[in-house]
Amino acid sequence: MDNSFQGKQNNARKAVTPPKYVKQVLIDLQAHGYKAYLVGGCCRDMLLGVTPNDWDICTSALPEEICSVFDSTVLTGAKHGTVTVIIGSHRVEVTTFRLENTYSDHRHPDNVMFVADLTEDLKRRDFTMNAIAIPPDGYVSDPFGGRDDIRNRLIRCVGNPEERFEEDALRMFRALRFSARLGFDIEEKTYSAIAKKAVLASELAPERIHDELEKILLTNRAEIIADAVSLGLLDRFIESRDVCREKLKLLSTIPRKQLMRWSALCSVLISSGCITDTKIFLGSLRSDRRTLSLCNTAQKILEGPIPGNPVEWKKLLSRYGRDAVSCASCGFDIVSGSESRAELRKVLKSGEPYSMADLALNGDDLLAMGYRGKELGNMLGFLLDYIISFPDYNKKDILISLVQGISDD
Ligand code: ATP
Ligand code: MG
Repeated sequence: MDNSFQGKQNNARKAVTPPKYVKQVLIDLQAHGYKAYLVGGCCRDMLLGVTPNDWDICTSALPEEICSVFDSTVLTGAKHGTVTVIIGSHRVEVTTFRLENTYSDHRHPDNVMFVADLTEDLKRRDFTMNAIAIPPDGYVSDPFGGRDDIRNRLIRCVGNPEERFEEDALRMFRALRFSARLGFDIEEKTYSAIAKKAVLASELAPERIHDELEKILLTNRAEIIADAVSLGLLDRFIESRDVCREKLKLLSTIPRKQLMRWSALCSVLISSGCITDTKIFLGSLRSDRRTLSLCNTAQKILEGPIPGNPVEWKKLLSRYGRDAVSCASCGFDIVSGSESRAELRKVLKSGEPYSMADLALNGDDLLAMGYRGKELGNMLGFLLDYIISFPDYNKKDILISLVQGISDD
């Protein structure tokens, strides 16, 4: 077997190798007599020819031993055997080989035991593709056939899937998330184990579910959310599992922005009858306030007619603001098959005024003309409506004459 980092990758793809500081951590640990490997997601990504988000290292060194090898370290989770090694401006997570015993809450191991054997450490990992370790030299450790599964684009649990989901129910969402991100299928037994154990998702913290759903939403295969719905993973948040997959497929055509994707998801769930209230749905998932409020406003807009011309779009923009209207335009496109986003884009690109801030005449000008209180507010509202319909007249002198004309009447 080829021992170089490059040699471990599919030849057809570009070679991804760990940066110097990561290699240095591996070599320093080895030089002190410890075993050290790249492990988990970074090995999977390297084999796929993708640059990993982060580089994780596992080692036979105990946390205090890791600290004694490097000048600058932070004991991030001594209980779990994790030390952050700081090399210049870089941080690398180094974790002692460990086993996890019982999981009484279907999420967190009750205790962790450090072990000397790499395979034991790999055994506790979720999927075969994430249970691969690569040393700086020597042989790749892949005791569960992760490379074959990567080649066959399959997500398969390490060990018995039902037991693994019993231990940690979040793994069911991770399976869907990796499937969405990598475009891999979920192996049959792993998939049917999710269906069997989906009920355990009800015990997970909603924040964790929110984060996993958001990661799925931001991929190019956001329709995988349909699997989460139909498998029953979201039963506690929705009223029906009968979601329209075809509409969910369109989520990936929407800009990859957190707010827009959540809003579009809500509109599909509402139109499918899975939820009735955006606020309740997002609130139960502990969404942040801004997302909750904007998605709710977008939903209100979606209950009305699709704007038929630029003036109607500008009226919506003036009333609800650009973010909520942009979200609603995505919802219109997905649910009604309209061309709303393109229409809205044209309106925004025209630069025509639609908000108070765009008015060429402001409150101070009206004060100087003798307007006060409610009367002043009403006049500003009237002027805004006026320039929305007649953008060319948004000039101070024209608006002053208009106000004077009205005052004289
Ligand atoms: P990403 O690219 O999204 O970071 P990753 O595979 O690196 O993907 P992490 O959440 O960073 O995922 O976890 C690092 C590694 O730790 C995983 O590859 C896997 O080996 C292991 N792991 C993480 N979460 C779990 C879990 N819930 N159960 C078992 N193993 C896990
Ligand atoms: Mg990672």
